[in-house]
Amino acid sequence: MTQEVFGGSFTQQEPIPEAGIEAAIAVLRHGRLHRYNTAAGEIAEAALLEEEFANLMGAKYCLAVASGGYALGCALRAVGVVAGDAVLTNAFTLAPVPGSIASVGARPVFVEITDQLVLDFDDLAAKAVSSGAKVLMLSHMRGHLCDMQALVALCARLGVLIIEDCAHTMGAAWKGVASGRSGVIGCYSMQTYKHINAGEGGFLISDDAAVMARAVLLSGSYMLYGRHRAAPPIEAFEAVRMQVPNVSGRMDNLRAAILRPQLGLLADRVARWAERYQALEAGLDGVPGLRLVARPAEETYVGSSFQFLLPGWSEARIGALLGRVLARGVELKWFGAADPVAFTSRYQHWGYAAPQSLPQTDRILAGLIDMRVPLTFSVADCAQIARIIKAEALIVGQGPEPEAMVLPVIQ
Ligand SMILES: *Cc1c(COP(=O)(O)O)cnc(C)c1O
Repeated sequence: MTQEVFGGSFTQQEPIPEAGIEAAIAVLRHGRLHRYNTAAGEIAEAALLEEEFANLMGAKYCLAVASGGYALGCALRAVGVVAGDAVLTNAFTLAPVPGSIASVGARPVFVEITDQLVLDFDDLAAKAVSSGAKVLMLSHMRGHLCDMQALVALCARLGVLIIEDCAHTMGAAWKGVASGRSGVIGCYSMQTYKHINAGEGGFLISDDAAVMARAVLLSGSYMLYGRHRAAPPIEAFEAVRMQVPNVSGRMDNLRAAILRPQLGLLADRVARWAERYQALEAGLDGVPGLRLVARPAEETYVGSSFQFLLPGWSEARIGALLGRVLARGVELKWFGAADPVAFTSRYQHWGYAAPQSLPQTDRILAGLIDMRVPLTFSVADCAQIARIIKAEALIVGQGPEPEAMVLPVIQ
């Protein structure tokens, strides 16, 4: 019997919708790419994009910027984080998150995660007190939402402001409240691998006029903030317009034009991701030695990636599984690798942060496997991927211990 091999690309996203291509070409034809370069009576694509995203999220204010990582750093500055401050964040996240904390000279304080891959509230409370941190950079890593109601109550009690990193949760919700609407600021990424794609890009949303006025000035608005449509009223800028530094990181009209038609497609994308996620879940349910991450009923998640745990598996066995599924076309990533690989790294690899010990997170990451699910995969593709992982997990999980640890190289 010939073995089935998956032929899709784990890094191939869908093309830009035709309406986005046409809008982008129109911007290229007129040449006014800078967001403050408008003809008489013209409203910039960037300003329209902000207005439309604010409406979609039910936020008062929205600022579009150059990247998701820029949005995080801008948010920290806008709420007043300064050099030397401690900032709490998830120990399980990706490099731009601690990087944004380092970018303002602040100190990341990592908080343990639970087996559900979300923040451990007991550790959060303990570290808020011991570090004196007044800000939590909450990473909804890989789209897993913690109990947001409980977190908001806890942070209010601790006197800690929440900034939400929604790079993996644009379109997600907790008890119907959109991800990004529980903290002071919600930040998003429009990088190619996220939920809407302009190559690069970021959003900040907020209902706080003072915070958002600072964010707009920080982004490099010069004295042109009056041209924004989803920004606070002019009065909010008056006291601070000559105090806040310009840390340029603006969105441009070309990328805004590419993004605007994608906002209306988000809900449909979320629904399609759910079908794919559920096909993977159904195909991997009950495989011995492999544990799925339960999704709480309160959570509306976006299945743009899939995680499972191999609790107690040796490194050699995990390496063997990754190699065998890769030979059959399935790219899995592992958060337990000694060295950072491509986009995947973990807190010990961020050498600019003070060394910290997080034994619970270490135990979980040692068995954590991660997979991208681009929408170019069909539901049948996802069922096939699950069959391949299941077959190889049975062979490797129940076979003899491999002699050596060999981690495959994903090109
Ligand atoms: C992608 C990502 C970001 C933002 O990254 P950019 O590449 O700067 O847009 C932030 N947090 C997480 C968890 C991410 O995956």
